[in-house]
Amino acid sequence: MLNTYIDTEYAPEKCSLCSGTGNAESGVCEACGGQGNVLVAQPAIICPLCSGTGNLETGTCRACGGSGWALL
Ligand SMILES: [Zn+2]
Ligand SMILES: [Zn+2]
Repeated sequence: MLNTYIDTEYAPEKCSLCSGTGNAESGVCEACGGQGNVLVAQPAIICPLCSGTGNLETGTCRACGGSGWALL
């Protein structure tokens, strides 16, 4: 089973960077690898650094790894 999570406090959420499409403007979404969803800590919190965009002016948000979800 691929859905065996080590930490049950993590659950898949729709990727906030590509809105679940798996595609970014430049190609495959880096945040979810084209899967359209990412594992995030529950309760899910939008990354305060990039406001859920997964991107900063300098590039991919390092706080959330581009997922748009804060990993707290
Ligand atoms: Zn994505
Ligand atoms: Zn972020």
